[in-house]
Amino acid sequence: MSDLESLYREVLLDHSRRPEGRGDISGFAVTHHELNPSCGDEITLGMSLAPDGTIDALAWEGQGCSISTASASVMTGLLMEEGTDAASARSLIEQFRSMLRSPGVEPPEELGDAAAFQGVARYVMRVKCAMLPWVAAEACLLRLDPPGDS
Ligand code: ZN
Repeated sequence: MSDLESLYREVLLDHSRRPEGRGDISGFAVTHHELNPSCGDEITLGMSLAPDGTIDALAWEGQGCSISTASASVMTGLLMEEGTDAASARSLIEQFRSMLRSPGVEPPEELGDAAAFQGVARYVMRVKCAMLPWVAAEACLLRLDPPGDS
């Protein structure tokens, strides 16, 4: 295992042990439930936007493997960064998806800790686990900020 791989492993373990954003999802503008039947992972994500269009609040509940849990945690940290609006959130989701579809390609810097999932791209079954929370976030964004609504 390379130094980078063991560093990534640490990041994933950390996030699966102390997941960020796991909590009560009542009171959010929208919620979305997403299931990954091949592994049994389940997540319900709640999201609200501030009047200026930035992501105001995000939380999730669910049960899943360590990859889906860590992924939900890392995603929460990334999307809750100050000033992240619907458009930049969408772009981050797209970058995460394309990283998981491109094994061996260096992930963009914007992904931060989420780059730790790049090794998952080699395992087709695990890609769905890692992608699950991001798909739920995408669905929430679609309802909060429908396309064509500028
Ligand atoms: Zn899973």
